[in-house]
Amino acid sequence: MTVDRYAVAGNPVAHSRSPTIHAMYAEQTHQALVYERLLCPLDDFAATVRAFAAAGGSGCNVTVPFKFEAFALAAKLSPRAQLAGAVNTLRFDEGGWFGDNTDGAGLVRDIERNAGVVLAGKRVLLLGAGGASAGVLGSLIAARPSEIRLANRSVGKAQGLVDAHRDWAAQHGVQLTACSLTECGSAYQVLINGTSASLAGAGVPVAPEVMASGALALDMMYGPAAEPFLAWARSHGATARDGLGMLIEQAAEAFELWRGVKPETAPVLAALREQVQ
Ligand code: NDP
Repeated sequence: MTVDRYAVAGNPVAHSRSPTIHAMYAEQTHQALVYERLLCPLDDFAATVRAFAAAGGSGCNVTVPFKFEAFALAAKLSPRAQLAGAVNTLRFDEGGWFGDNTDGAGLVRDIERNAGVVLAGKRVLLLGAGGASAGVLGSLIAARPSEIRLANRSVGKAQGLVDAHRDWAAQHGVQLTACSLTECGSAYQVLINGTSASLAGAGVPVAPEVMASGALALDMMYGPAAEPFLAWARSHGATARDGLGMLIEQAAEAFELWRGVKPETAPVLAALREQVQ
């Protein structure tokens, strides 16, 4: 029996739970596949992924910091990857690789279904303008919050993402603006940390006033690296949530793209919660 090969490509990847998640999805749906970690040198992403494909790989997830480079490798793009300008899932189709972005669908499903927070009408502050924030912005807009403010250390990158999503935001009646991390304003009902500050062990990059009382504060990071952000959020009265649910939901979308079957996420989230504290 042929066993198809997939991987998560990034740097770092040692912390990634994606291999565990995809192994559970494969078992649940009776699919024969293996899923590996592919550590890519920072200056050699494309060659590393091409070598994996040449060695029989069928597709890969792409994580920090290569989502923009993955976009450039795709010959065909889903509409949501096109809007994001970033790719987190590649399928190595013969005749040209297909690029998708499942991060936004995963994040919105985790916030609305798993955490039970409806985004419509809410004020949302999204931190970061890298591949992760690019990937989720379109889906956040489609959930119709009243406002999304995109804050980043380099304001120009945040402004670029806002410009790319201007028409999409207008179609959905969402006020979309960019700012620096020190000019965010205050009292957002939903705070999403899409920076890699937690991964890098840096502190929380904004002041606690950005959160309204009882806000949802979600860090896309998970595991021990997310803990300082989560503790900070809790200590200021917010409901803290890590990125594990998002990871599991976006992985289910990627799995469906590759295998044509959508796995059940709830049991996998429950099992991973036991492992990741
Ligand atoms: P990128 O490298 O593309 O972007 C990093 C972003 O973080 C940039 O906006 C950068 O700002 C900002 N940043 C980095 N360090 C700091 C700091 N010390 N203070 C403030 N801002 C900082 O990474 P990605 O966008 O791909 O990933 C971001 C995070 O999201 C990672 O931790 C990743 O693991 C996580 N993630 C989780 C997912 C999940 O499913 N749970 C899915 C996708 C991502 P600047 O532009 O100024 O350099």
